[in-house]
Amino acid sequence: MNEKLKLLIELQSLDSTIISKSSLIKEIPLKMVSAEKPLNEAKANLDKQRQKFEATEKKKRDKERELDDINERINKLKARTSEIKTNKEYQAHLKEIEATEKERYSIEDEILALMEAVEAESKELKAAEAALETEKQKAAALKKELEAEIKQAEKELDDLRAKRAELVNSLDSETYELYMSLLETLNGLAVAEAINEVCQGCNMNIMPQLFVELKRNEDIIQCPQCRRILYYREK
Ligand SMILES: [Zn+2]
Repeated sequence: MNEKLKLLIELQSLDSTIISKSSLIKEIPLKMVSAEKPLNEAKANLDKQRQKFEATEKKKRDKERELDDINERINKLKARTSEIKTNKEYQAHLKEIEATEKERYSIEDEILALMEAVEAESKELKAAEAALETEKQKAAALKKELEAEIKQAEKELDDLRAKRAELVNSLDSETYELYMSLLETLNGLAVAEAINEVCQGCNMNIMPQLFVELKRNEDIIQCPQCRRILYYREK
């Protein structure tokens, strides 16, 4: 095989690997962002649970204050009993005490229900805290993994670039310039294999006469359609 052509095939193979590795590295920050999504959801859920819990606790405290007030009212009413002179007044007084006590029972029921709600919501809050902790650990582990992935890929890229530089040194500048201009204009593929009279770069047919010529791999032959440098691999 033509030495230049051999170098060009190797160069293309290196560049294809460099291009795909570089695009993998570029995707990693996006992966990090999407990894943080469940973490942010867990944070939002914890905030929601905390607000719910605090609102119920506040309701309970308000009701307890109401209970204190009503107890005081009942005590005052009861203390006034001895001051009552007539039977009619006394009956009305008893009725008032009874009504106030009824009110107190209903407040006590509400407090009981609120205590149960506080207990249930406190469990939910703890579960949300635990879920957040789990997500934090997961996100941290993934971040570490992705950072190691970047480091590894960058090291591999450095090695590939070093190999590439060596290869380029062995090529004459005219051939390298042709290669580079094709690489830039043809989407990262300057050298293409020809299989069964078809250019694998553009999928167009190659005239039989040209195919016979390029099968020898003796010259730098470009595809008449896409201009890529063609080569033939022996079966
Ligand atoms: Zn072509």
